[in-house]
Amino acid sequence: ADLTQLTWTKAPCRFCGTGCSIMVATKAGRVVATHGDSKSEVNRGLNCVKGYFLSKIMYGEDRLTTPLLRKRDGQYHKDGTFEPVTWDEAFDIMAEKWKKTLAEKGPKAIGMFGSGQWTVWEGYAAAKLMKAGFRSNNIDPNARHCMASAVAGFMRTFGIDEPMGCYDDFEAADAFVLWGSNMAEMHPILWTRVSDRRFSHPHVKVAVLSTFTHRSFDLADIPIIFTPQTDLAILNYIANYIIQNNAVNQDFVAQHVNFKRGVTDIGYGLRPEDPREANAANTEDPNAAEPMSFDEFAAFVAEYTLEKTAALSGVPASRLEELAKLYADPNVKVMSLWTMGFNQHTRGVWANNMIYNIHLLTGKIATPGNSPFSLTGQPSACGTAREVGTFSHRLPADLVVTNPEHRAHAEELWKLPAGTIPDWLGSHAVKQNRDLKDGKINVYWVQVNNNMQAAPNMMQEGLPGYRNPDNFIVVSDAYPTVTCEAADLVLPSAMWVEKEGAYGNAERRTQFWHQLVDAPGEARSDLWQVVEFSKRFTTDEIWPPELLEANPDYKGKTLFDVLFANGQVNRFGLEDISPDHNNPEAQDFGFYIQKGLFEEYASFGRGHGHDLAPFDTYHEVRGLRWPVVNGQETRWRFNGEHDPYVAEGRDFQFYGNKDGRANIFALPYEPAAESPDEEYPFWLSTGRVLEHWHSGSMTQRVPELYRAVPDALCYMHPDDAQAMNLRRGSEVKIISRRGEMRVRVETRGRNKPPRGLVFVPWFDARRLINKVTLDATDPISKQADFKKCAVRIEAV
Ligand code: SF4
Repeated sequence: ADLTQLTWTKAPCRFCGTGCSIMVATKAGRVVATHGDSKSEVNRGLNCVKGYFLSKIMYGEDRLTTPLLRKRDGQYHKDGTFEPVTWDEAFDIMAEKWKKTLAEKGPKAIGMFGSGQWTVWEGYAAAKLMKAGFRSNNIDPNARHCMASAVAGFMRTFGIDEPMGCYDDFEAADAFVLWGSNMAEMHPILWTRVSDRRFSHPHVKVAVLSTFTHRSFDLADIPIIFTPQTDLAILNYIANYIIQNNAVNQDFVAQHVNFKRGVTDIGYGLRPEDPREANAANTEDPNAAEPMSFDEFAAFVAEYTLEKTAALSGVPASRLEELAKLYADPNVKVMSLWTMGFNQHTRGVWANNMIYNIHLLTGKIATPGNSPFSLTGQPSACGTAREVGTFSHRLPADLVVTNPEHRAHAEELWKLPAGTIPDWLGSHAVKQNRDLKDGKINVYWVQVNNNMQAAPNMMQEGLPGYRNPDNFIVVSDAYPTVTCEAADLVLPSAMWVEKEGAYGNAERRTQFWHQLVDAPGEARSDLWQVVEFSKRFTTDEIWPPELLEANPDYKGKTLFDVLFANGQVNRFGLEDISPDHNNPEAQDFGFYIQKGLFEEYASFGRGHGHDLAPFDTYHEVRGLRWPVVNGQETRWRFNGEHDPYVAEGRDFQFYGNKDGRANIFALPYEPAAESPDEEYPFWLSTGRVLEHWHSGSMTQRVPELYRAVPDALCYMHPDDAQAMNLRRGSEVKIISRRGEMRVRVETRGRNKPPRGLVFVPWFDARRLINKVTLDATDPISKQADFKKCAVRIEAV
């Protein structure tokens, strides 16, 4: 190859929430190579095997290149076959269905589902179109399946979302504790930093807790396998150990902590609507929880003795003590790390709160190396799903739709009439599927995710809603997925460096990239799709007459006019939008609308603890960690030495809460929603593998990654297999109360479950494990528990 023709440009990785920076080589309009970016503080020139093969994800043979509509005899038909149509025809039928639904049933019958893979401005534009344009809060990201418990955990304890620490903690900690996280496979680049610290500093300890042995156990000094759900008891035992051994940091606790009774399901802007999730004691403000004294908290956790916790969890008492000592020793700086093991849990919010309890009791928080750290799964779970406010209860910068002041603030910044944003809580991910099934939501747009593969209990709670004859389902994606197959209209999307973009990673780092190549055929960015669709509606058609009578200036305007050509967005010259690339400065559709949307969005957080740098700065740097004040990023929030929001003279200030104190909640152990019994004797846990990203729609199209791990397998203990006359490679049915699926048995390899538990990854579209998983959700976060349900195994 003629290397002189390669152009190398930086971009964040398309995959996980680690947020590695990648150097991308283009040649003749194609991405031809990638390597880790040595200028990146995150990955320091490394990337994992997925990042290594990033250049191939856009070039699968079956890329979607034109809109496809189900037709019969030339007309749309729910049971027709997919036929190519123009964008005009696609938007025409969408607009017809949306208008009919709005006229007949109102905004609650409209829904949208996105993800933390939306770029910052795509998620922002989609949320604005839904909440302010269609006046429906029924928009949610698949981060609901991933991070919702972490979000509610942060809001309840600190009153502000996202980790206080950063990746610099990896080089400062003396101990790492992985709570249900398999970082070796899911966050491999961060795992290299843990490994480096462990091998170069002999005093460093690594504790790994899980319900089965996996690759992260290779580095474990303290390996712990616990009975599913008993992490709640172990967390309380550690709090009890700290108190019993006089390891409480009394000064820190006296100055910076409140104790609260936390059993009630208080959330933040989350109210129960579905009777299945109702709790009479639910309120909106976690700080309204009843206070308790330190002594009362100590008495509460005192029942979690070593003996009781060891018996409940199945963990030897000596191991539990070893673990507790890491937290209790004032000379050991501890980094706690978790992802789905905590979050996908019917008490995921409690688990998040309980880990903060331990760090707050010991004062091991918000200083280098002392860091409770919630890792993310998607590349912009933080930057888009959380910060932009694409959750059904949220607005940008931690504001919520249920708070009238927050809505008024958003309407002011968006230059929209008072009362535009609805006050009702939108349906979350699992409830959206139920609403579709029940005919409560009738038109639904899915972007950048594969929910029919990702959602729990998909055959009973997912597919029926998509195929409900009263519903019209639109799916935007780059590749045909099982979600596309269930849709009525499929829209072809541009991906990664085929468009301008911005992601925010797990350490609050916002990173930008430029469009480097054109998307194939008629594929267009999700932002283009949202903005173009907004031109099909006028306010007169879909807004209530009383809103327009009180605000006549808005009469007869298109949603494009009022959302994307209005106020802040237009500051940067909307007339320069150049969908046909006429403007040499606008590399992708509407470079200026992206700048306008970003600056408008950033205005929500500036001065409110979420400050972002100016748009152009991000193209010059390898990302910055917010809050960015006077050009300086913040590494440790709430710490007076590092965070400009901490008041002068204070060592720490948890300023998300009005009194500057963090909350310690007294929370109990609670059994799982479903446990094994005689009929369904195995626990089932699901998860991911290193080589495939989430539902595998991109990585399974990379030949090297596909060949490395072609199939999902059922990992089980060899003795369980033998007892059932099964061998490695035997085909089995996994059956739950909800459905069944077929898969082959694996008794060796990277995952080694204990007896009575099986583990199956969910990346494989031919082996859909979510046919059997449970759709029970955490009552506060509404996140489903994919880590535990009861199944039986039958030989085929
Ligand atoms: Fe880094 Fe994650 Fe991409 Fe791997 S998949 S290169 S760890 S961002």
